[in-house]
Amino acid sequence: MLAEREISPHVRRYELEPALAALAHADARGVPLAGRAAEIAALRRVGARNASLGRIFEGHLNGAQLVARCGSPEQRTVAERDIAAGRLFGVWNTQDDAHAVRLEPAGGVLRLRGAKTWASGAGTVARPLVTAAWPDGGVQMIVLRMEALGARIDPSGWRPLGMHDSDSFRVDLDGVTVERSDLIGGPGDYERQPWFFAGALRFAAVQTGIVERIVAETAAYLRARGRDADPFQTARVAQMTIAARTAVLWLEAGAAAWQAYDAEPLPPNAAAVLDTVDMARSVVERCALDVIELAVRSVGARGLVEPEPFAALVRDLQMYLRQPAPDAALARVGRAALERGGATA
Ligand SMILES: Cc1cc2nc3c(=O)[nH]c(=O)nc-3n(C[C@H](O)[C@H](O)[C@H](O)COP(=O)(O)OP(=O)(O)OC[C@H]3O[C@@H](n4cnc5c(N)ncnc54)[C@H](O)[C@@H]3O)c2cc1C
Repeated sequence: MLAEREISPHVRRYELEPALAALAHADARGVPLAGRAAEIAALRRVGARNASLGRIFEGHLNGAQLVARCGSPEQRTVAERDIAAGRLFGVWNTQDDAHAVRLEPAGGVLRLRGAKTWASGAGTVARPLVTAAWPDGGVQMIVLRMEALGARIDPSGWRPLGMHDSDSFRVDLDGVTVERSDLIGGPGDYERQPWFFAGALRFAAVQTGIVERIVAETAAYLRARGRDADPFQTARVAQMTIAARTAVLWLEAGAAAWQAYDAEPLPPNAAAVLDTVDMARSVVERCALDVIELAVRSVGARGLVEPEPFAALVRDLQMYLRQPAPDAALARVGRAALERGGATA
């Protein structure tokens, strides 16, 4: 286990441009001031530029919106100041069962036990929201001020297929003490719907950005080598373009459904967000897998040698496509369709 300063050579210092950082501003209901469509478009753009930064940006927006929606007025004011100062938020929920994070009341303080895994941006994210279980099992969000904690960041197990630069390390929180004023919302707020499942739209947007980048790079590669008039290559570019456009259209449908819920938070609108986002994430995954296959066929082995971009892009996308509970999302879509008697909408 290493202290943060000792691992600085392994940790990237991601900083967001002010225009991107500003997208994290949200109202007291956690609705991004820029609107859902702008949020999703920005996540696509960042994903296309740098997949790992896209992952960190996704966590930043999610964390900031959770504080805006579930935090007290004081906590929201502090978070607004942190966002304006360029401090990155994040959400670290994943953990190994054997070291699940617990919250222990100890005298006047609260002590954490356990560790988070897959903590993206560890070493860069200044204000992660972590989840921890109270003794009765209720799940609580806590905002950490990383500079004040002495949490131990361990990059030693991070040897992934792709997304290496997301620095998704293990963070040991054992013994870290937090204040009551660091608790965000109450037990159960983290998993409150429709926000919890709707959040999948953010990672689907970053994934779509990577897909769009692969399509653009493939077209450029073929043109640069005079292979763009070949009918097989042209057909593959067509299929890739249709897949990428399909992903974008589904993201836009998800953003529109979410925006409609933001405007009118009624149960039918919540159901529509959940259904549309579950479908969107499944479609984006399918489109991404198709584009990977088509791009690899188009550029061949030569294209998969660095410094060509394809090897890294394909690795990053393959890795980042693995997000929580894809089977469960598809099962919800199927159950909802069966309840509608097979009607498609
Ligand atoms: C690059 C990257 C960065 C990440 N950053 C963060 C982060 O900052 N914060 C964070 O909290 N998390 C982060 N994660 C973790 C992420 O949110 C998911 O928890 C993780 O990707 C899911 O991993 P998995 O595919 O191994 O999951 P699994 O849940 O093991 O899924 C694998 C397969 O098993 C199926 N399955 C799931 N449950 C069951 C079951 N009970 N029985 C049978 N089959 C099942 C799934 O549908 C899927 O097909 C990150 C992940 C990646 C890839």
